[in-house]
Amino acid sequence: MNMQEYIQEGESALLHTYNRYQVVLDRGEGVYLYDTDGIKYLDFASGIGVFALGYNNKAYNDALKGQIDKLLHTSNYYYNVPAIRAAKKLTAASGMDRVFFTNSGAEAIEGALKAARKYAFQKDGAADHEIIAMNHSFHGRTFGALSVTGTPKYREAFEPMIGNIRFADLNDIESVKRQLTDKTCAVLLEPVQGEGGIIPATEAFLKEVKALCEERDILLILDEIQCGMGRTGYLFAWQRYGVKPDILTTAKALGCGVPVGAFLMTEKVAANSLTAGDHGSTYGGNPFVCTAVEKVLALFEENHIIEHVREVAPYLESSLDRLKEKYDCILERRGQGLMQGLVFNCPVKDVIGRALEEGLILINAGENIIRFLPPLIVSKANIDEMIDILESCMEPREA
Ligand SMILES: *Cc1c(COP(=O)(O)O)cnc(C)c1O
Repeated sequence: MNMQEYIQEGESALLHTYNRYQVVLDRGEGVYLYDTDGIKYLDFASGIGVFALGYNNKAYNDALKGQIDKLLHTSNYYYNVPAIRAAKKLTAASGMDRVFFTNSGAEAIEGALKAARKYAFQKDGAADHEIIAMNHSFHGRTFGALSVTGTPKYREAFEPMIGNIRFADLNDIESVKRQLTDKTCAVLLEPVQGEGGIIPATEAFLKEVKALCEERDILLILDEIQCGMGRTGYLFAWQRYGVKPDILTTAKALGCGVPVGAFLMTEKVAANSLTAGDHGSTYGGNPFVCTAVEKVLALFEENHIIEHVREVAPYLESSLDRLKEKYDCILERRGQGLMQGLVFNCPVKDVIGRALEEGLILINAGENIIRFLPPLIVSKANIDEMIDILESCMEPREA
């Protein structure tokens, strides 16, 4: 079949929940993807921040192949070696004490919310605790995760959400204080908002929220599903500021292509929240996905991924800054590390569409923002190539 025929087949059977670009992706190599017609694309989206190590990484593939032949799955009524190893590695790397593996980001959020409510319930036996989340946040599509997602358009048709969620503004500590009550059990935020438009939390804000939480024994939940796993130049974004969460969520690049997420917590939360029978998942943390997690963390170290991000990210920043200077339609560049956004004064859909035709994969974050989430192995030459293609898709500067 050619690509158009595949697309027609797909449209006849897949639920139409995405306006997909008219491309069928077939295979990948490094930072490049190829469609079923053999056309090559430079990928600056990495499957929405998933493919940190790039495509077709041999060491990663071999680890997974080895585990396929050994044991793909076992239930959580038993231990398995990859889960034990992945748990040890991930807790050590994240600074947290205990981990629960999930199948997605949204499920990691669900678990984090349950842990926070249980922690508060243990203290006073009440069942009316509140959680403060941020406007413009994104935490996933399941009901719990949707309930804390601060973008009404995602929630509207699916009301009622879970109750007792209040929204504050990122980087506005007064707005957080206004939502604070005796019932508040947790504050949830992304250290760098992703879908909401690549908006970093300020260090001052994070520190103020942390102080507020400590003062009142409220749990700080950081959602690092998009900004974690090296993307900002730190394995987890909180490490930049030393603002350690009580509960941390991760997913996306955690498995670099296999569906796995996790919520992690400190010993204090673990000892006073979820216990046997409180939470579970059939697939969660099975040997296959945990082999991926363990290998990903090992390869991050062996290949000095964090150091590489710190080296190339300033180059991406300055390259994007130059574009901003050159084109009036670009209002701002913002982000951290290899998580960058260019804010336009108009919708970016057309530029992204043209870029795709020219062999460059980009994604948006909101209508007016192009989001750059390249594989973390991206080189300066790849960045130059991306800028060249992007420029060829832009209107020349108005006189
Ligand atoms: C993608 C994302 C989620 C949801 O993850 P899924 O795996 O799609 O369920 C949650 N939070 C953030 C910050 C995300 O970027």
